Amino acid sequence: MADLNPQQQEAVKHVHGPLLVLAGAGSGKTRVITRKIIHLIRGHQIAPKHICAVTFTNKAAREMKSRVSEALQGHNSRGLMVSTFHHLGLHILRKDIERLGYRANFSVIDPGDSLSMLRNLLRETNGPSDLAEAIQARVSRFKNDGLFPEAAHADDRLGEEAARVYALYQRALSACNAVDLDDLILLPIRLLQDHAEARYTWQDRIRYLLVDEYQDSNGAQYRLVQSLLGVRHNLTAVGDDDQSIYSWRGAAADNLHRLAQDFPNLKVIKLEQNYRSTGRILQAANAVIAQNSHLFEKRLWSTLGEGHGIRALRCADEADEAKQVISAILRDRFQRQGEYRDYAILYRSNHQARPFEAELRNARIPYQISGGLSFFERSEIKDFLAYLRLLVNPDDDPAFLRAVNTPRRGIGGSTLERLGAFAKARGISLFAALWEDTLELPEKARIALRGFAGWVNLKAGEVDKAELIPALHSLPEEIGYLQHLHSEGDEKDAGRRWENIQELLDWMRRLQAQDDGPQTLPEILHRLMLFNVLEREEDDDRDVLRLSTLHAAKGLEFPQVFLVGVEEELLPHRNSETPEQIEEERRLFYVGMTRARFRLTLSLCRKRRRYGQDVHPTPSRFLQEIPREHLDWQGEQNPEAEMDPAAAFARLRGLLGRNE
Ligand code: ATP
Ligand code: MG
Repeated sequence: MADLNPQQQEAVKHVHGPLLVLAGAGSGKTRVITRKIIHLIRGHQIAPKHICAVTFTNKAAREMKSRVSEALQGHNSRGLMVSTFHHLGLHILRKDIERLGYRANFSVIDPGDSLSMLRNLLRETNGPSDLAEAIQARVSRFKNDGLFPEAAHADDRLGEEAARVYALYQRALSACNAVDLDDLILLPIRLLQDHAEARYTWQDRIRYLLVDEYQDSNGAQYRLVQSLLGVRHNLTAVGDDDQSIYSWRGAAADNLHRLAQDFPNLKVIKLEQNYRSTGRILQAANAVIAQNSHLFEKRLWSTLGEGHGIRALRCADEADEAKQVISAILRDRFQRQGEYRDYAILYRSNHQARPFEAELRNARIPYQISGGLSFFERSEIKDFLAYLRLLVNPDDDPAFLRAVNTPRRGIGGSTLERLGAFAKARGISLFAALWEDTLELPEKARIALRGFAGWVNLKAGEVDKAELIPALHSLPEEIGYLQHLHSEGDEKDAGRRWENIQELLDWMRRLQAQDDGPQTLPEILHRLMLFNVLEREEDDDRDVLRLSTLHAAKGLEFPQVFLVGVEEELLPHRNSETPEQIEEERRLFYVGMTRARFRLTLSLCRKRRRYGQDVHPTPSRFLQEIPREHLDWQGEQNPEAEMDPAAAFARLRGLLGRNE
């Protein structure tokens, strides 16, 4: 424990009872969790299977796991659970979902499928189907608040509609033996609440629960934590209210407060030394976050030296921004003989990545994009996954609807409507309905449908028996998928999409090959479905530059960070208006700044193309909150544009031949 400070040591040694570590960015909260796991196993001989740590991303979980097993060397860490809340929920459901009336081969549907289900339900019941998206958000909010249909109420019209449809939606999901992402938290709560046997089993299994990024857990996750704790209360929660950036998903920083109320014997430890960033970065970040109102007072200091000031890059437009940032990176990397992975480009919204991607491709720089539109959003991947889901769970209606007519099988809309009505009236799935003798359909349609269903059954049998990946390899060909791709786009496009499917298959093979990797199709599928929650699984050890949204950069650190688009309307985001929303945007900015270890660069444009028009953005208000002495202005100077004093000063310094 020599490389932990006294407060960190205290947190690690506090083994029994509830503990909250409340501390700013880079103060070693995550390190405390990792060390505590090791300490429990080595120091207290706790069997790893009794320890469960919850991280915010899959990547963080993988990192933590590998740190632990490295440190344990001889000790076996088998059974240790390190995962996101969603994964933990999935894990619980995989063991016990049958108690809730679902079958073990359940599907996890993605938000796109859930939206179409809701839209259909609204249509069928004369609800406002044009508001399906808003209603989906409200339903998700109920679930994130830990509310079951019977407890969901709202005062406004939209909320009432959402509460009404919520009940129907849960029934529809259960008819397809499917759960959505929010159910991965909600159903385990129900399980632990209503089924004493399962509750005792899980409470006995998880004797030590550690939660990272606690400030971003939501009401449902809090309830899950509480129901897992039982009477033991061996909870270690670490968090930073200044980094709470998910309130739009129902995360409540006052979960921090609730802990103190619900656990009178809660021990609170604060950490104040920052080990990540050099002094000036930290002082700038502290000054910015000081503008927010605070639940808890915190100070952060560092012994890493003053370091560089914060570079502020003025750019002409977004193309110039990408050019300047990338060439700064290339120059720096050359000078230091450094690696690409030392650099991250962070931005508020996904669309900002595009010019950077173009520039990176031009310069042949390997990069990885996280938090963006995922691989799994591509239609060919969704198609292929729909088939896989159907092989595992033929009752998965969204998968059935997607697969049955991709490629086209001449099954018309009216046939599917009739099938749907028949199934709904009986509370069964489409797949089950089409075998019913009382189903009235034109002969041709019936043959087409049953032909398809017969193939699904056959293929499922084959996949069950044969070696998995080879059996799946032949699937796209069997269904004539290449022809389908050709009928949809040009040859190049079809080729690319075909390759994406091959990549997915390769990926599945790699998953299988991992230590304790998933083996069967249901296992692999459950894993895959969770990737699109936040990120895509990647080989972590490649030397690549990272492009990421601010949200997805939480908990990470990089020697150099380029936070781009520091302009009003982008950051703070244009949809953020209320003081609370602006505070959340400020926290996001703070999260971005505090990812940097040695060098932080902020960039902004004079001109930007938005919705087909040129706009002249103003610098972000957050930029003004950084003390001037910490900002070094650089970059394009447009003589026509009015120049602010700092930029003029920087230019003068440039003219005098002085470097930053
Ligand atoms: P965030 O709020 O961004 O999640 P954190 O509080 O979880 O940050 P860590 O990521 O655990 O902070 O630690 C930040 C960096 O400081 C890491 O590189 C970590 O290895 C290092 N570090 C933490 N504690 C110490 C220590 N006692 N001595 C030396 N380095 C440390
Ligand atoms: Mg952390």
